[in-house]
Amino acid sequence: MKTIDKIYINGAFVTPHGQEMFDLINPATNQLIGQVRLGDETDAQLAIASAKEAFKTFSQSSRTTRIKYLQKLHDALHKRIDDLSAATIEEYGAPVSRAKASTEMALAAFLHAQEVLYDFEFERKAGRSQVRMEPLGVVGIITPWNANANYICGKLATAISAGCTVVIKPSEMSALQTQVVLEAFHEAGLPAGIFNIVNGLGNVVGAELTRHPDVAKISFTGSTAVGKTIARAAVDTMKRVTLELGGKSPNIILDDADLSTAIPMAVAAGFMNSGQACIAGTRLLVPETRFDEVKELLKHAVAATKVGDPTDANTAIGPMVSVKQYERVQSYIQSGIEQGAEVLAGGPGHPEGLEGGNFVKPTVFANVTPDMKIAREEIFGPVISVLTYKTEEEAIAMANDTTYGLAAYVSSTNEARAWKVAEQIVAGRVMVNSLQHDPMAPFGGFKQSGIGREYGTFGLEEYVEPKTIIKG
Ligand code: NAD
Repeated sequence: MKTIDKIYINGAFVTPHGQEMFDLINPATNQLIGQVRLGDETDAQLAIASAKEAFKTFSQSSRTTRIKYLQKLHDALHKRIDDLSAATIEEYGAPVSRAKASTEMALAAFLHAQEVLYDFEFERKAGRSQVRMEPLGVVGIITPWNANANYICGKLATAISAGCTVVIKPSEMSALQTQVVLEAFHEAGLPAGIFNIVNGLGNVVGAELTRHPDVAKISFTGSTAVGKTIARAAVDTMKRVTLELGGKSPNIILDDADLSTAIPMAVAAGFMNSGQACIAGTRLLVPETRFDEVKELLKHAVAATKVGDPTDANTAIGPMVSVKQYERVQSYIQSGIEQGAEVLAGGPGHPEGLEGGNFVKPTVFANVTPDMKIAREEIFGPVISVLTYKTEEEAIAMANDTTYGLAAYVSSTNEARAWKVAEQIVAGRVMVNSLQHDPMAPFGGFKQSGIGREYGTFGLEEYVEPKTIIKG
């Protein structure tokens, strides 16, 4: 049992004013593994005041100083990388390989940020004027449970590059990861107040950040529903917002695709992060002419996907993060059956022998029609819906028939053709014959998948405000 009873304000671990304790549960066993004491509005206000004070000096810091701080944070976290992986596995149920990849990505954020910062133009010319790209101020960072440490690191690295100070409200369900990251950041020895971390509930600490007049921007990753609440609240103080929200990403298999690679890739895209990924390729669009072949290959690929103990190196799919999430996924599986889709693999209930945790059978539905709930709503579990199309135009129209627009995938042996299809998909990121992330390229959503972009130069632009000084 671990007890996390401190938050971090003005360079020190302090006891929060909030008294409520929140249980941390291992989702693979549903055993209690710890408790976190939650901060309240007063804690959020103190953290904001600390960040505001630190901003006075830090906003004036040089590029060299910021690069030095980013490197210090990187080096300090590097020493704790195994602890971070272990926390990710224990409290979130990420399989070993996923936990490793995700912590490496968190760490790399501090290196990529340096690369971007090195070349970033803070001073620009426009007409006869000088334009200064000034740091926005105090940024409120709000993260989800599905990649908590990644988002803390990515957003903090960008804020520091810009010269902003921050108050981080991590997912309350990810307190073990937050604690490791926080201890590492403290060791890095940055001046007090540049970053503050307040564990707490979204509608308490998160809402206070969103409301507070001294917070200039909210950088949020999470559900579309909460994103909308934040956007509405942010208007009152005209805060800038970056919202990275949900998705229902299409994966178009073109009729010339090499199915021996495209289908395993489709399964990996659909079941990414045990299905708990915003960019999971959950709508598999297949040409009618190749439907039978695809079905066979899907059955094999799913049968070869090991579900179970996240600490086992062979496991591909771990548990859902919580009982609530398990039940949510089950209700979608049930709705797929009730609406007449064919269960090609998986189905309702726990996989045999895994009843003690929040494990879901990796499920593939065939004969899904675009009106079904499983084709329209974000499930956030290992559930793939297969829809068929007759023509390329129809496939593109189906891909775009969604309120979301975060990511998409295209498979084809003809790259030029796939590229043309990619150009017509309304999504922030289209991956052609690939599942690779590009940390230097902008990431974010069209439509209800969000507002703004993260990563690379585009991400940094969102933490600065242009100020024009006109010469007489
Ligand atoms: P969530 O929206 O429930 O919570 C995210 C964060 O917001 C948490 O820290 C929560 O405490 C906080 N929050 C809740 N209510 C709030 C309020 N009223 N004001 C301020 N903050 C509040 O999301 P989740 O369940 O933690 O994460 C899963 C969701 O995140 C999925 O929809 C997924 O698609 C999305 N996601 C998007 C991306 C992306 O980059 N686009 C990445 C990862 C996850």
